[in-house]
Amino acid sequence: MEYAEILHRCFRCGFCKLPSDYTDINCPSYLKFKFETYSPGGRMWLLKAWLNKDIKTTPRLAEILFSCTACGNCVEHCVFPAFKEDLLNAFIAGKGELVNEKAIPPKVRDYFEAIYLHGNPFKRLRKNRANWATELNLESFSGQTYLFYVGCLGSYDENGQKMAYHTAKLMIDGGVSFGILGDKESCDGNEVRSMGEMELFKHIAEKNIQEFRNAGVENIITLSPHAYHSFKNDYSQLGGHFNVYHYSHILKDLIGKKEAVTSGTSIPVTFHDPCYLGRHNNDYQAARDVLRAIPGIELVEMDRTMNNALCCGGGGGNFYTDILGGGPDSPARVRVREALETGAEVLVVACPQCILMFEDAIKSEGISEKLNVMDLSEVVQSGLP
Ligand code: SF4
Ligand code: SF4
Repeated sequence: MEYAEILHRCFRCGFCKLPSDYTDINCPSYLKFKFETYSPGGRMWLLKAWLNKDIKTTPRLAEILFSCTACGNCVEHCVFPAFKEDLLNAFIAGKGELVNEKAIPPKVRDYFEAIYLHGNPFKRLRKNRANWATELNLESFSGQTYLFYVGCLGSYDENGQKMAYHTAKLMIDGGVSFGILGDKESCDGNEVRSMGEMELFKHIAEKNIQEFRNAGVENIITLSPHAYHSFKNDYSQLGGHFNVYHYSHILKDLIGKKEAVTSGTSIPVTFHDPCYLGRHNNDYQAARDVLRAIPGIELVEMDRTMNNALCCGGGGGNFYTDILGGGPDSPARVRVREALETGAEVLVVACPQCILMFEDAIKSEGISEKLNVMDLSEVVQSGLP
């Protein structure tokens, strides 16, 4: 297995499952299951024992490996600079070994099949990908400055469609030159990669790169931080070099142009850093700059913020497979309780996975009267408060 040589170097000090101040559990899978084997250090030893053939390949082993949300907290907080960068790579390589052995959980297999056969995880028709844009009468991409890549959630999920709509509307009003691929758009493949199916990821990425090149794309705006990460960091390794922006970057440019509406009242809001924008790409400011620029918004921070943010639990494919599962100790429910403790009335997100994870968590916690979850583009569009 690739990265197998780093496994023995972990001595399970456990710092990687904590935030910087060591006061909380910040590895989502350990937080949920409370067994060391679900922690990053435990995963290292589990993988080592498995590769040594001290333990067998079992469905339980697969469930443990696939419960990792690829949040990157361990990479951020492991105390050993010599191998910390490769921690998550090792966990993904472990999943890859299970893919090779055809020993993956059924929900993961179903996800891969849907992506391969339909180009999206929902098995929806490709011709309906741009339905969200009908009312806006958006142009297909034909050489505009930006391609607006909305991804599978932006195309088919109700929350994602609203995010895509609000972002597109703000860009139209702000005079941004952009087009969409519509039925030529396909899954970006980030979750496929984070679940270790490297052949399928390569297939998806190469097809997308070709599609982008054929259309003459140079600059891409993504709705999802997951697509942002893939296009920026993984596609470039396969020869796909594009200038990639998350929509929060574009909103930051546009916010100064939008007419400020001052009502005299203020509303406290808090921001949840998406892992693939924050820890994976070190981008913590664009969304905060947008929020601070809106009159009447008081930005309050959660205890765990920026590089210490607790993942919503949806990464690493868990949004689709739900291997991490729900319950009071699920990361999303812990996170919405943390948001509520700040006194915020709105939990602002910048990822189409986070929004649904938190909406469900808020319902499960029974705090819908106290805390609302909104995407950044909706906040800008509505001009809160
Ligand atoms: S901080 Fe690094 S060395 Fe310590 S348990 Fe985690 S992975 Fe192992
Ligand atoms: S990437 Fe996140 S979920 Fe996975 S082991 Fe590291 S801290 Fe835990």
